[in-house]
Amino acid sequence: MNIEHADFKMAQNNGEDNLLPCPFCGSHNIVYARYEHTAGTRWAVVCMGCMAQIDPGWAQSWGAVQELWNRRDILKKQSIPLHDFYL
Ligand SMILES: [Zn+2]
Repeated sequence: MNIEHADFKMAQNNGEDNLLPCPFCGSHNIVYARYEHTAGTRWAVVCMGCMAQIDPGWAQSWGAVQELWNRRDILKKQSIPLHDFYL
């Protein structure tokens, strides 16, 4: 994801799109980022505190990346390659 070409969507506190605080820096300033890929629109989650991000490359809705972020899959490393995260 080229963050300079992404649109950001703020998460609402306690709303259905709520995002948990950053597991790396503790920031509550977490946003959704929408960007255009040649395959279509993709979503990522970015911490504005430390720029940690989760961007699986296939997420076509904010709900998909919300689930990954809130489940802390970024800490479990599963199917998401480490190079997707910028610390
Ligand atoms: Zn952070």
